Amino acid sequence: MGSYNQTVVLDAIRRSGGLSRVELAAATGLSAQAVTNICRRLLAAGFVQEAGTTNVGRGKPRTLLRLDADARLAVGVHVDPAVVSVGLLNLEGALLAEERVATPSALDPPRAIATITDAVDAAIAAGQADRGRILGVGVAAPGPVDLRRGVVANPPNLPQWHHVPLRKDLAATTGLPVLLDKDVTAAAVAETWWGSPGRGGTMAVLYIGTGIGVGLVVDGKVVRGSSGNAGEIGHVVVDPDGPYCACGQRGCVAVTVAPVALVEQGRRAGVLDARTPSDTAGAVVALFDRADAGDVVARGIVEDAAAGMARLALVVTNLLDLDRLVLGGPFWSRLEPYYAGAVAGFRSGAAAHQIHDVEVVGTSFGEHFGAVGAASLVLDQAFSAHPTALVEDLRDDSPRARTRRAVAS
Ligand SMILES: [Zn+2]
Repeated sequence: MGSYNQTVVLDAIRRSGGLSRVELAAATGLSAQAVTNICRRLLAAGFVQEAGTTNVGRGKPRTLLRLDADARLAVGVHVDPAVVSVGLLNLEGALLAEERVATPSALDPPRAIATITDAVDAAIAAGQADRGRILGVGVAAPGPVDLRRGVVANPPNLPQWHHVPLRKDLAATTGLPVLLDKDVTAAAVAETWWGSPGRGGTMAVLYIGTGIGVGLVVDGKVVRGSSGNAGEIGHVVVDPDGPYCACGQRGCVAVTVAPVALVEQGRRAGVLDARTPSDTAGAVVALFDRADAGDVVARGIVEDAAAGMARLALVVTNLLDLDRLVLGGPFWSRLEPYYAGAVAGFRSGAAAHQIHDVEVVGTSFGEHFGAVGAASLVLDQAFSAHPTALVEDLRDDSPRARTRRAVAS
């Protein structure tokens, strides 16, 4: 149980910003002797530093232990069908370097893996990081994913991807432990790690990428579902009179309010034309440029989308009795002026609105959301003291488990 207790102590130090050994014993429930032993190991490994003293009453001043933020680093790779973002994150969540490369929609997996590997190397070089301090690479990928095998199955917005063993392939090309999760799960992990310190709570992260998904946190715990694919909301109907969807319904999120659908609407309405960039990211930006410039048709598309997002927010809020709704994704800074008001306006219609309010916020990570989320997967796996993570650590030899052991040793 040594490594588990060590994780508990490290987690308490990280979340507090600095604690004495006496406070650590009180916060963790461990004995004073166990805390002293663990702190000796953490100091020797360079994870924590002694940083000044605090006076409590008339007793001996207590030495504070603080995290050494750069003792270990994590790489995050966010694969969005529009943009691949790679970030290098330290233990305090500071983004030391970020690389972005466009993902052409036709990109085939081997080229994508080579591109991602180059971007990982570039981020490590830009952050002047010692490779030996890197815990691993977290990959946030569009679903559906096969968590157990580390495979990206058949993402609807990446038509050339069929059962790509991204975890294994990237581990081979980077030489680093790699773990994979669905993009919205990574976003939810990031919010629990950095977005709301000390808060448990029940929240949803509405992630607006090329499509739209939701990351779920119930009572402080990230919800992955039985196979890692919770949060697929693409076929929630937000406009019963909307366009037909391949699933047989009308007006699903996927065909009405997802950015890829907005681009389609813009092209059909003639707001976007042959001069518009062919990639989704470029076309979304072009659409919002037109709306910002006062184009009535572009504004109509965007405002309808905002209303649809509000309906979606209401469904998710009622389903889980949320106390917090976070919105984000690579386009969020462009969407926010149009969406924030409409989405916040749904709250009075929530089933529990007379009991409690729902806090609606944009992510604090801005456009770095994806890369920070992906890197947070590594830190969460390495440092969080969730009992489930412990079970995995004892049981298997997956990259997740190896990452944990690398930290524990
Ligand atoms: Zn549908």
